[in-house]
Amino acid sequence: MIDQSSLETARKFLKDRGLRATNPRVLVYGLLREMGGHHSVDGLVAQLENRGIPVPRMSVYNVVTDLQHSGLIMCADCGPGRALYEASDEWHHHFVCRICMEVTDVPCILGRKPCLVPPGSAPGTVDEAQVIFRGVCYACQAKLQS
Ligand SMILES: [Zn+2]
Ligand SMILES: [Zn+2]
Repeated sequence: MIDQSSLETARKFLKDRGLRATNPRVLVYGLLREMGGHHSVDGLVAQLENRGIPVPRMSVYNVVTDLQHSGLIMCADCGPGRALYEASDEWHHHFVCRICMEVTDVPCILGRKPCLVPPGSAPGTVDEAQVIFRGVCYACQAKLQS
């Protein structure tokens, strides 16, 4: 099950954006809000299944794509084949640990896109720049040293 208040909030946010509060949208967005953090489509499908509310993978995929376009959720492109979704309407960047692969939010100086533009003459009009910082997180550094 997903917490009733998470579903209510999801419904409200969808309506505020002028989106139809369809069942899959309410479920996926409600789950993302409830869990927090960054989740793949496969991870979301598994979570929903575990909670006894199976939603087809294609529906989950369509929901995250729609909600990403409407700005309710953000997609962090964390490396080959690793698109992670989160309930956030505040633009930010991410740090990915090379060892544990943990994804951590990094605030954006401007908080809106694009916060970076290519140096010199751009090859086109830039509307988004998402930075993935990579390195080793402090938890993994501590384990390496022990
Ligand atoms: Zn780590
Ligand atoms: Zn994030």
